[in-house]
Amino acid sequence: MEEKDSKDIDKINNDNEKDKDDREDICYICRRSERIAGKMMHIPNNICICNDCMQKTFDSMNSMSGFDMMGMPFMGMGSDFMEDMGNIPNRQKLKKKQAKPKEDNKEKKTDEEIFDIKNIPLPHIIKSKIDDYVIGQEHAKKVISVAVYNHYKRVAASMKGEDDIEIEKSNMLMLGPTGCGKTYIVKTLAKLLNVPLAITDATSLTEAGYIGDDIESVVSKLLAAADNDVDRAERGIIYIDEIDKIAKKKNVNNRDVSGESVQQGMLKLLEGADIEVPVGATSKNAMVPMTTINTKNILFICGGAFPDLAKIIKNRLTKSSSIGFGADLKDKFDKDENIFDKVQTEDLREFGMIPEFLGRLPIVFALKGMTKDMLVSVLKEPKNAILKQYQKLLEMDEVKLVFEDEALEAIAERAIKKDTGARALRAIIEEFMLDIMYEIPKDDNIGTVTITKDYIDNKGIPKIEMRQGC
Ligand code: ADP
Repeated sequence: MEEKDSKDIDKINNDNEKDKDDREDICYICRRSERIAGKMMHIPNNICICNDCMQKTFDSMNSMSGFDMMGMPFMGMGSDFMEDMGNIPNRQKLKKKQAKPKEDNKEKKTDEEIFDIKNIPLPHIIKSKIDDYVIGQEHAKKVISVAVYNHYKRVAASMKGEDDIEIEKSNMLMLGPTGCGKTYIVKTLAKLLNVPLAITDATSLTEAGYIGDDIESVVSKLLAAADNDVDRAERGIIYIDEIDKIAKKKNVNNRDVSGESVQQGMLKLLEGADIEVPVGATSKNAMVPMTTINTKNILFICGGAFPDLAKIIKNRLTKSSSIGFGADLKDKFDKDENIFDKVQTEDLREFGMIPEFLGRLPIVFALKGMTKDMLVSVLKEPKNAILKQYQKLLEMDEVKLVFEDEALEAIAERAIKKDTGARALRAIIEEFMLDIMYEIPKDDNIGTVTITKDYIDNKGIPKIEMRQGC
């Protein structure tokens, strides 16, 4: 019996020797074969490195401070170093794709996660959870809740293999001025669903081969957000901001590499395609491992301010209703604050979006500009409202922070002047809270601080009340 075993082992060794003869070593770093790169050096873990790469490695290590090799390449390097050479950094490793979801392999639930996307809750429940964070924008929240509900039902159906009726993808296009909550709604939704989210600015994208990020880089971003888990990435959300900036440029003679070409390039992503993406990097090169991601179940949401679109809509509306009463109707839509609600595909086409692109974003809706009342609500109502955050911070010093209603209105008025929606609020608050956060903890006797309108208007100081008994 033992004799047979040793014969088997001899045979395997002989086979290995034979194998070695008809196979070439390949450099672990540059991937060139022995024939091209010359004789290889063998290091533990069956790794071969060509002379050039070995030299480059030593050169770069020598240039690192405190790593003087003194011309003795292997001196003091021990086997740890050799093992490290075989280690690929973690961010370049892919999480293995699961063949079948196992019970004990359930996704980790975060504190914020409320929903299970395999058993997606009804649209009104999704909306009520978004309400906790996002003020106003009732129509947008309703549309997005229904779209997300349908999207994940479609994903669930395709996971079960129910393909008899093909449900169309619910990619979305959001229109609305800056700082009205477009990105915030998407972020909130992704957090509630515990799906990975990648946010990209369309202005940074260009057609492949030109300076800028190529279009597929948005999918690598999503993979990174999913912690290199392909399964999770394939159910994620990609938000592309400033989509109006890739409108077809008018009157250009040369190639429109950051406008129309980007829209063209995005078509297959929006539709659903297998995309080769680098793992752990945003650009493809020989050193980076690649993987394939299918975008069929990725939800794409695009958003933009579309500054001149209002004019286009107004022109269309005026034209169509001016017969006979032109003079009266000309300025009828000028004061219409909800003009974006009347948008139609033809307006977006005139703006410069190509029909194929619009066809892949079937759900179009608008968000409203922030009014004074909405801004006041943003300050105090959301679950993580900025005022609540400051109140919590001072509560830790046992100080009560109070804001007078007029003070909040004064903050909102200042924000409106900046014309950047709710975005301006944080900067304004931080500016005047700085002194308070600096001075108040100095005095243990302070019990309550009230922020007044005069303080916001730089005409007075906040009201300070001492603790009882002080
Ligand atoms: P944009 O519409 O330009 O994408 P954001 O969604 O990034 O604007 O908004 C900027 C910030 O303003 C958000 O991080 C959020 O704190 C706040 N914000 C904007 N709109 C709302 C809203 N409707 N409700 C609550 N907070 C909002």
